[in-house]
Amino acid sequence: MLNPEHLKQRIALLDYLRQRHWTARPAACQQEFVGLCPLHRDTRPSFYVNPHKNLFYCHGCGQGGDLIRFVELSEHLSFHQSLAFLQRQIALAGEGGVLEQTAAFYRLQLHRHPEAIQYLALRGLRDPGVIDELGIGYAPGGNLRRHLTSQGYSFDLLLNTGLINGQGCDAFCRRVIFPCRQNGQTINLYGRSIGAAFPHRLLPRSKGGLFAWESVSQYSTVILVEGLFDLAVLWQAGFRNATCAIGTHLTHAQWTQLCDRPSRSVYIAFDQDENRAGQQAAHQLARRLDSAGVTARMLQLPLGHDPNSYFVAGATVADFTICLQQAQRL
Ligand SMILES: [Zn+2]
Repeated sequence: MLNPEHLKQRIALLDYLRQRHWTARPAACQQEFVGLCPLHRDTRPSFYVNPHKNLFYCHGCGQGGDLIRFVELSEHLSFHQSLAFLQRQIALAGEGGVLEQTAAFYRLQLHRHPEAIQYLALRGLRDPGVIDELGIGYAPGGNLRRHLTSQGYSFDLLLNTGLINGQGCDAFCRRVIFPCRQNGQTINLYGRSIGAAFPHRLLPRSKGGLFAWESVSQYSTVILVEGLFDLAVLWQAGFRNATCAIGTHLTHAQWTQLCDRPSRSVYIAFDQDENRAGQQAAHQLARRLDSAGVTARMLQLPLGHDPNSYFVAGATVADFTICLQQAQRL
């Protein structure tokens, strides 16, 4: 266990805030950064950070202190819980490297296993450029542990990350893998089963922000989908403004990203489920976006379809464009 001083040396306050999507500009005195306060409902930037002293102060709510104080306030933890929380953040950062290695290893496996390429084709994904760009890989099972331990990673680390189970087998066995990246780092892996196992799997850690948000955020109009295969076929069809929350529930970070500019229009293209689960989730999200001042439209695809299956069933770029044009506001 690191002591409080070491913890603060390992994680700079400003880095910690930026990883949590705090945006700031240099303050007038140039020594500090100023932005909206993450601790209270702030309308004018009143939260100041001094990166040299590693301290913050908010002129709105009057809170101030160091990184540990910030964690106490923002996570509602005691001092000791905050230390443990930060310790865990450092451990997670160490796990980042192993996720990177795993994603690279699975990428190599993809073209060695015809069943994986066949599965991608079945899901309508054929463009090698898009497959490569998304970093899609395949976990054939049974060889990740050997590969990573030969790279110096401990069995315990692999187990803690959730990459292998207690028997040493790949947790993602027989799954197509999409790495979830943020700021150039792999922060999670999504695995889609190509067999009979439960279809979806993420590692037990944050799914992070919206998928590929670094490239999508530049668009004033974005298409939000449920699944990564939806995103992949839309990118392949040229809709590069598609992003994905991996499911219909948005994390706080994903929600903040989607609302990061008031002029944005969001086209919600969730699954058109027979039981209407996807439609209801789309409706709720549209209402929430509307009240946040973001224009939301809901796409109507044929019942039972999602963007992925719609393209697999033969829909063209023109068909999907019509769906976008006909998308309804609330
Ligand atoms: Zn404040």
